[in-house]
Amino acid sequence: FLGFIGACIDIHDRKTTEAALQDSEQKLRELSESQKRFVADAAHELRNPLTAIQGNMDLLVRYQDIPEEEKKDIIQDVQKEASRLGRLVHDMLQLARGDSGAGLHEDHLQLSEVLLDAFRDMERMGCHHQFTVAELHPIELIGDADRLRQLAIILLENALKYTPAGGRVQLALTREGDTAVMRVADTGMGISQEDLPRVFERFYRADPSRYRGEDPGGTGLGLPIARWIVDGHGGEIHLQSELGQGTTVEVRLPIWLED
Ligand code: ADP
Repeated sequence: FLGFIGACIDIHDRKTTEAALQDSEQKLRELSESQKRFVADAAHELRNPLTAIQGNMDLLVRYQDIPEEEKKDIIQDVQKEASRLGRLVHDMLQLARGDSGAGLHEDHLQLSEVLLDAFRDMERMGCHHQFTVAELHPIELIGDADRLRQLAIILLENALKYTPAGGRVQLALTREGDTAVMRVADTGMGISQEDLPRVFERFYRADPSRYRGEDPGGTGLGLPIARWIVDGHGGEIHLQSELGQGTTVEVRLPIWLED
């Protein structure tokens, strides 16, 4: 009888091992697919600013007698594209580090102070907006102070980038039981219902033709990085938006402290 039980356990074990193996093979396949897509998308994104820089440099080298004014414009364009290239590489490195399982720090921090710090950093960019803090509830928690600051900066920067001058951008931090709730609300151009489900995809940017004036020149990596930071803290991030009305991003983080 014991032998029979042993054989059953053996078969059961083998089956669970096979299922686990198939499961990890499937995960590996998915990972490899998403890595391939990331590399292809990254190459595509890097090519645009590079081509622009090369084209402008060719002009400068080939035609020595370009008028000074025009030369200045060309150089400014090179500068703009080079800084876009820098931003792309910086954001890509950050996501690659996340993918390779780089962990988060566990700092004992005051979330309200971290957010206030980020807000102050963005004040200059927000000087043409009604850029305000609605409420900052003091909340202590364990988390990665640098990454949480970066999260706030990504959301505030997006709100300012996609809200025309004069519009409202507001930051708030409240507490709901054991959850810290951070909200960044703007009265900007909003996101269409079509684009909304895709904004957390890497490199995804809603149709740039809808920008009045100049394209604010994002990388399409801000929200994926934001989600990575929130996931790493065991939280959730939700985006609510209406085209032409504005956007509110809500981040919910579980509050945990050392025992
Ligand atoms: P980007 O660097 O382009 O801003 P993100 O990943 O941060 O990339 O955002 C993806 C896209 O989502 C943006 O290109 C923009 O179209 C849209 N988006 C993000 N935040 C906002 C916002 N507050 N208002 C309107 N559109 C937004």
